[in-house]
Amino acid sequence: MNSAEILPDLPGLYVHVPYCAGKCGYCSFHSRPLKACPDNEPERMTAALLDRARDLADRFGVSGFATAYVGGGTPTALGPDALGTLLEGIAGLGGGTPFREWTVEANPESLTAETLRVLRDAGVDRLSLGFQSGQAEVLRAAGRSAGTSEGMSALELASSWRGRLSVDLMIGLPGQDPEGVRTDIGRAAAAGAEHLSIYELTVEEGTPLETAVESGTVRLPPEAMEAELWSAVAETCASAGYRRYEVSNWARPGAECLHNRNYWRGGAWIGTGPSAVSSIPLPDGGTLRIQETRDHEDFLSDAGAFAREEIVPPATAAFEAVMTGFRTREGLDSEAFRARFGWAPEDLLRGSFSKWKSLLEKGPRGPAPSDRLLDILNPFLLDCMAEMEGRFEGRALRPGGPA
Ligand code: SF4
Repeated sequence: MNSAEILPDLPGLYVHVPYCAGKCGYCSFHSRPLKACPDNEPERMTAALLDRARDLADRFGVSGFATAYVGGGTPTALGPDALGTLLEGIAGLGGGTPFREWTVEANPESLTAETLRVLRDAGVDRLSLGFQSGQAEVLRAAGRSAGTSEGMSALELASSWRGRLSVDLMIGLPGQDPEGVRTDIGRAAAAGAEHLSIYELTVEEGTPLETAVESGTVRLPPEAMEAELWSAVAETCASAGYRRYEVSNWARPGAECLHNRNYWRGGAWIGTGPSAVSSIPLPDGGTLRIQETRDHEDFLSDAGAFAREEIVPPATAAFEAVMTGFRTREGLDSEAFRARFGWAPEDLLRGSFSKWKSLLEKGPRGPAPSDRLLDILNPFLLDCMAEMEGRFEGRALRPGGPA
């Protein structure tokens, strides 16, 4: 199997910077407060991130990347000098081919005019700012590290950014109200955001928020309020010209995130950094998944030796493709699905599609969810999973599709 056979298209590149200014009380992402790390660790980490990306690119014969996404953690927490070095190295990984989209995540505590200059000079064309909420009490109760004044200043600064701007917001925070949500979306729009990622707060195991909720110190909004908050999102986004194109993502036409779209379409990507994942579709329909270690010292000493590799079998990869495809309004690409797994989705999921037909639509390249289905996706996906399990029990998914 040669590399062109494995990766006929350019993959995406994900770089995980595992540092933040502090640690938010609800966060389960892999990140450490920068001040808790040994002095020279960020510099060593920057070199290790690039080395590991080069190793993976060499292994899969990758000569360039379609898109790059630098997330974490908080890449801007590195400070302008280390961030500039990292971005220069990432630009070099493209092998002279410019990325079609290059995103860097930022959080309010570390976004400065100097940081924006470093991003612009490196060629970054998309800034993703974690704003979350402009309601002070709400942020405090959730244990957000940045406060409202930092968030507002960052949003104002981000409005001077010449590239694409995406703003992250959270729903379901303690004490949040619909008026606050409307105001936050309005603020993001006024700052020039063409893209919004709006996530529901989940209480993750082992976080300070979990302890606070369990002890009753913090109360989450009741179900009826949650529904009102999401209605406020739907109305305000629609009237501000944002279209929901994925369960948690809204964009002005043409401003959809190309990097994430590659994930949802089941494309290949290479991930570097503690906790990052690489995903390489294989010719038999399965997927090679590589999970990087979360241990910083292990990653710094020899990342490849501590990474875990797994082959996801074709049947599981097919279900993953259904799950991620139906998160998006464009839905599945029937031809691509059939070429990869040997079945057209319409044949594979005949029973589920028939049961849910009132909430399904014809997408640009195959079956797609309606807006309403995006709100209640899980029972539909459970039906799809049961149907696929029944069909493939004890059999490999490929070959064997209908003639
Ligand atoms: S800024 Fe983001 S990644 Fe960092 S601790 Fe807070 S939620 Fe987690």
